[in-house]
Amino acid sequence: MDVKQIEKQVIMQTYARNDLVLQKGKGTRVWDDQGNEYLDFVAGIAVCNLGHAHDIVTEAICRQAGTLLHTSNLYYTEPQVRLAQLLTQHSFADKAFFCNSGAEANEAAIKLARKYASEKYGPLKNRIISTEMSFHGRTMATLTATGQAKVKKGYDPLLEGFVRVPFNDLNAAREAMDETVCGFLVEPIQGEGGVIVPDPDYLRNLRELCDERGVLLMFDEVQTGMGRTGTLFAYQGFGVEPHIMSLAKALANGLPMGAIVAVEEVAESFGVGSHATTFGGGPLVSAAAVAVMEVLTSEGFLEGAAEMGEFLAEGLREVARSSPIIRQVRGTGMIWALDLDREAKPFVAKAQSRGVLINCVQDKTLRFTPPLIVTREEIERLIQVLQEILV
Ligand code: PLP
Repeated sequence: MDVKQIEKQVIMQTYARNDLVLQKGKGTRVWDDQGNEYLDFVAGIAVCNLGHAHDIVTEAICRQAGTLLHTSNLYYTEPQVRLAQLLTQHSFADKAFFCNSGAEANEAAIKLARKYASEKYGPLKNRIISTEMSFHGRTMATLTATGQAKVKKGYDPLLEGFVRVPFNDLNAAREAMDETVCGFLVEPIQGEGGVIVPDPDYLRNLRELCDERGVLLMFDEVQTGMGRTGTLFAYQGFGVEPHIMSLAKALANGLPMGAIVAVEEVAESFGVGSHATTFGGGPLVSAAAVAVMEVLTSEGFLEGAAEMGEFLAEGLREVARSSPIIRQVRGTGMIWALDLDREAKPFVAKAQSRGVLINCVQDKTLRFTPPLIVTREEIERLIQVLQEILV
């Protein structure tokens, strides 16, 4: 089957795909339909944090698939409850709600903030602040919240009740935060925006401001969560807790799953019938996510990943020192970016032809989000390829 040719005929053309048909993955490696092997520094866009076909996750999925796939949320199931227990034990939160994607998680966060504020302060406190260059998803509400014009084109009218301020700008946040604002939605590190890390005290000051004004702080950790930044959740690295956090991507290491977790007082606003989804928190995805949480929180795992993240950072800085076309190295943990002085896309193809998968965000930024199990030797291979191509 000529996959690439037929894809053009039968799939809506919303993706600019790389010239590659992938067939198989194991650990940090994937293979194409010709049997060529690639080192994967994309990991399904920060999704396969434990690598491809991780033994413990695969075993959990196979076991659950042969036991019970789906029940709907009309019934209790153990994997869902166990997962909520793990997420709340290992975070600031008291309660979870499960859905199926990052956009849906943010949608739930927005709804929860509005519900809480309407019950506590009345219907006029309903506006959501988000930040320029943010990315929160493609549903109408999350698209409206997203701070990138290119993803909104053609979809007017967008939703009411949203306002955007520059990221990492406390004064702008202060000015925008009037009595009509109920929530501030922000990525602790902007991923799709180009791996933008805020000043160390931005999020802490934002939390103080939110507390002063009766506004819920919502961290979109869809991309930064699940160990990506060196701690289980990015907020832990910044030492600032939100009221609500959204998760997805790496939560089930590749099965589609999203979640929000929140502090008790806020979570209580989601009562019976106030929000729901058919598939959310189903036994299969929950069993996978339980396995993911158990591996991520096993002794030494995150510390090891953080150490490799440092090694990756050093390597990238070394490349930057010898390459005149690199303007900046940014990131933390296992999420890094190289800002170039030119279009980044051709370098993605060049790396691919040398057996390494990377991707670009924005026009001039290369992003690196390998599985957290990546080894020193594999990082050295990436660095060697970058030394060859970024000249
Ligand atoms: N939020 C952030 C920070 C993301 O990076 C993404 C996807 O890239 C989303 C939300 C949307 O997630 P999904 O594509 O699963 O809807």
